[in-house]
Amino acid sequence: MVGTDPASRIYVERKARVAERLGFAHRQVDLPPDISQERLLALVAELNRVQKVDGILVQLPLPGDLDGDAVLEAIDPAKDVDCFHPLNTGLLTLGRPRFVPCTAAAIMAILEHWGVGLSGRSATVVGRSPIVGRPVSLLLDRAGATVTVCHSRTPDLEPHVRAADILVLALGRPLAIPGRWVKPGAAVLDVGINRMPDGSLCGDLDYGHAMDRAAYITPVPGGVGPMTIAMLMRNTFLAASARQNVTPG
Ligand code: NDP
Repeated sequence: MVGTDPASRIYVERKARVAERLGFAHRQVDLPPDISQERLLALVAELNRVQKVDGILVQLPLPGDLDGDAVLEAIDPAKDVDCFHPLNTGLLTLGRPRFVPCTAAAIMAILEHWGVGLSGRSATVVGRSPIVGRPVSLLLDRAGATVTVCHSRTPDLEPHVRAADILVLALGRPLAIPGRWVKPGAAVLDVGINRMPDGSLCGDLDYGHAMDRAAYITPVPGGVGPMTIAMLMRNTFLAASARQNVTPG
C-alpha cells in the first residue's frame, strides 16, 4: 500500500480481515507516497524471492508519478493473485486462465450461484476497463453468451441495456442507468461503488423500477464487492497450492 488514500485503506483492511479469518498469514507493507519507482520495484522483487509468500497485491491506484503498469509487471506471475500481469491477462484471453481477475470471477460465481444459464443469452457489459469490464466480457463470451461491450463512446446505452439478459454495470457513475431500462427477467450485476456527497455508497444502477423487473440483482454495497474479496482469497489459495504442487480439493 503506497500512500494514504482513504478508500484504498478501507479495501486493504477488508482484505486483511478476510485473510485473517481464513487463517492466511498476511503482511501489510505501508510505503510513503513519495517512494521512488526503483525502491518500489526492488520491494516487489524481494517479495517475489521470498519462498513463503504465495500472493502479492499492490493496491491501486498508485499516487503521483509512479508507473503502476511497471510495478504490476514486476510481480512474479505465479504470485499475481489479482491477475493483472500481462502474462496472466494473455492466458485469460486465450481461455487458459491461471487466475481470473477477482471482480470478473465474482460476477461469474454469482451468476452460477443464481443458476443463470449463459449459453445463447445476450449479455451487455457497460465498462471496458482491464480490471473489470474487459475480463468479465471475455468470460461471458467464453461461456457462450453474445456479449455487447459499451463504453464512454457508446452513443446510446439504452438499447444495449434493454436487450440484456445479463447486465453488468461497471462504469463508476452513480445511479447512471435507470432501472426502467432493465429487461424483465434480467440478471443484473452492479459493480459500481460510488460515494455520494452525504457519504453513503451507491452503485451505477438507479434501483427504482429495477427491483420489479430484474429476476436477480446485486445490492451496493454488499454484492459484488465482498465476492471480489472471496475470489481474491481463492486465487491466493490456488497460488499457494500450485506453488506447493498440491491439487486443491
Ligand atoms: P474505470 O474508470 O477504469 O472504467 C470505467 C469504464 O466505464 C470505462 O471503460 C469507461 O469507458 C466506461 N464509462 C465511463 N463513463 C461511461 C458512460 N457515461 N457511459 C458508458 N461507459 C462509461 O473503472 P473500473 O472498471 O476500475 O471500475 C468501475 C466501477 O467499479 C467503479 O465504481 C469502481 O469503484 C467499481 N469497482 C468495484 C469493484 C468491486 O469489487 N465491486 C472492484 C473494482 C471496481 P472508456 O473505456 O471509454 O473510458
